[in-house]
Amino acid sequence: MARTTTIHTQTVSGWAAHDSSGKITPHTFHRRENGINDVTIKILYCGICHTDIHYVKNEWGVTKYPIVPGHEIVGIITKVGSNVNNFQAGDRAGVGCMAATCLNCEFFCISGHENYCDQVQFTYNGVFWDGSITYGGYSDFLVADHRFVVRVPKNLPMAATAPLLCAGITVYCPLKDNNLVDSPGKRIGVVGLGGLGHVAAKFAKAFGHHLTIISTSPFKEKEAKDRFGADDFILSTSTTQMQSKKRSLDFILDTVSAKHPLGPILELLKVNGTLVIVGAPDKPMDLPSFPLIFGKRVVKGSMIGSMKETQEMMDVCGKHNITCEIEVVRTDQIDEALNRLANNDVKYRFVIDIAHQSSKL
Ligand code: NAP
Ligand code: ZN
Repeated sequence: MARTTTIHTQTVSGWAAHDSSGKITPHTFHRRENGINDVTIKILYCGICHTDIHYVKNEWGVTKYPIVPGHEIVGIITKVGSNVNNFQAGDRAGVGCMAATCLNCEFFCISGHENYCDQVQFTYNGVFWDGSITYGGYSDFLVADHRFVVRVPKNLPMAATAPLLCAGITVYCPLKDNNLVDSPGKRIGVVGLGGLGHVAAKFAKAFGHHLTIISTSPFKEKEAKDRFGADDFILSTSTTQMQSKKRSLDFILDTVSAKHPLGPILELLKVNGTLVIVGAPDKPMDLPSFPLIFGKRVVKGSMIGSMKETQEMMDVCGKHNITCEIEVVRTDQIDEALNRLANNDVKYRFVIDIAHQSSKL
């Protein structure tokens, strides 16, 4: 691990929660100077992920206050360290969930799966190599190690690209791991049409699959079909609808942020089908054995993706022109946006206009 001693002399304006009320207020803090492996990024936009809510309200019990959330960051590079050859000032850059890993472990960091390194540290609420707490993208600028930075394709608008850095990569990897990027024609279900779910829907259609949205919100049916090209929509609160679609899907991605019954979702899978859970409810979910046994079904989890996969996903989005459906908010609306997101009232991702650009870029 590249441990270095750094001084944190740069003053940053940001927005933070100070306790589990989750209320976000302006907050001034410090970042390290730009080191030899670092780039400094002037942040233009930052997406609001449901993970930000889990953290600011301490729903997972691990929050260190004050917390500056934000891991769907896009901006412009303003400084590069002397060891950095792949970026220069003026480049469009993105930073997602990771700030550091050990860089050395054989099975994860060396083999390109560093998101599973047991020393992974996140963009906020993490501990960087120098022992400092990491602060995220609800702030004016970021100093990031260049190994945890990706390029934003030139054809993609910056604001609508920001959520790809977490929502995008989180749903891309399970599709890739299950051979669903290059083998079209499968029947895919996405549970929860929110920030992650709507990007998953776009990927599923771009990769040529039959798409079923499984949702608790009847009002999302029309948009699921008209806007995201869903071939089918199942209201998960309707037992009749769920039962009529038993054994119909090859693969399901569950993006739901709250505890919910897994049995009826598993029943939607064909024999040998796979359910990947990416949603991270704060309470454990029951896993009933009968739908697993009777359908020889598999349940897996998945966490974001490696930096190589993140760049690959960004490039795939550039190629297919995939961006997110966003509502841009001002920095004085962050609190309101978090409350609306907690109430499932967003289409489909809030993005904070950190640099007061409106959504031009
Ligand atoms: P989001 O925008 O709030 O979307 C979640 C969706 O889940 C909602 O739109 C809603 O869809 C559904 N939902 C909400 N409450 C529900 C309930 N009580 N029962 C059933 N369905 C419910 O959240 P997000 O930003 O997509 O994040 C989703 C989850 O993924 C969060 O837990 C987040 O922490 C986690 N996450 C995990 C990773 C990872 O690496 N694994 C990465 C990023 C985020 P409908 O209205 O369609 O039902
Ligand atoms: Zn996220």
